[in-house]
Amino acid sequence: MAKRINSSRIKKNLTYTIVEAAEELGISIATIRNWIKQGLSIEKGQRPFLIYGTDLRDFITVKAQSRKFTLQENELNCFACKAGRQPLNDAVTYTPQTAKTGRLCGGCGTCGGKCSRIISNAKLPAFAKLFEIHFNGGGAP
Ligand SMILES: [Zn+2]
Repeated sequence: MAKRINSSRIKKNLTYTIVEAAEELGISIATIRNWIKQGLSIEKGQRPFLIYGTDLRDFITVKAQSRKFTLQENELNCFACKAGRQPLNDAVTYTPQTAKTGRLCGGCGTCGGKCSRIISNAKLPAFAKLFEIHFNGGGAP
């Protein structure tokens, strides 16, 4: 994680499959799939699904910027606001990512867009005091 991604390898006027995008950026296919879940646009009109270079570059840029601000403990990253925001109604969904981490997702309390935050599972009890957490796939980890 936190490997610097060189978005200039992506050509704005080209389209990429998930595999091509991963190869070009030197990252895993799983990472690209996560980005799509986090809001990266994808053209699903045909198979394989295509990602526009311009969308991919914008997404990486916003992602890089979103690392620059520090989240308060009751905030998630909002990609639209490009800032830390409190989730709508303090309601979030937890999705396991790895054995030790998971993602909290919610609606942005400011713009209504999608916001998310990767957390360590060890911090789940602390977040459960701040948010109403729904577990994706049932049950706590
Ligand atoms: Zn927002």
